[in-house]
Parts: sequence; structure tokens; C-alpha cells
Amino acid sequence: MICCREVVELLCDFVGGELAIEQCRELELHLCQCQKCLVYVETYRLTIRMSRCLQDKPLPPSLADKLRALCEEKRKDV
Ligand SMILES: [Zn+2]
Repeated sequence: MICCREVVELLCDFVGGELAIEQCRELELHLCQCQKCLVYVETYRLTIRMSRCLQDKPLPPSLADKLRALCEEKRKDV
């Protein structure tokens, strides 16, 4: 039986369908018994689905500029 920490570590591969069947089963078994992880996985999936929908639309130029400025600011901090 895998623990909650392992669920988080495997989640990316699990959602991407890159997990071995055995690991998939272990993870699903954990999700059946752990409400906390189930909600976490659902939220993760939903986020991916939503970001896929957004991909079709270009970023508003003002937002893109803001992001770029923010990135440059962060780079200066390092
Ligand atoms: Zn858990």
C-alpha cells in the first residue's frame, strides 16, 4: 500500500497515463480509501483540463507584458 506522499510523487505520471499498471492499481486503491488524495487528484485533473481549454486563446498582451516584467524582476533577485 502506497502512502499519501507517494501519491503526490506519482500523480504527474498517473494523470499523464505514464504509470505502470501495477502502480496505477496501487494508486487507485489508495484513492478508494483516502478522500484527501482523491480530492487532490480530481483538482489536479481539473486544472489540466482547464489549462488545455485556455491554450486556444492567446494571452492578452497586457497580461503577457506583466508576466514578462515579473519574470525579469525575479531574475534580478537571484
Ligand atoms: Zn492519501
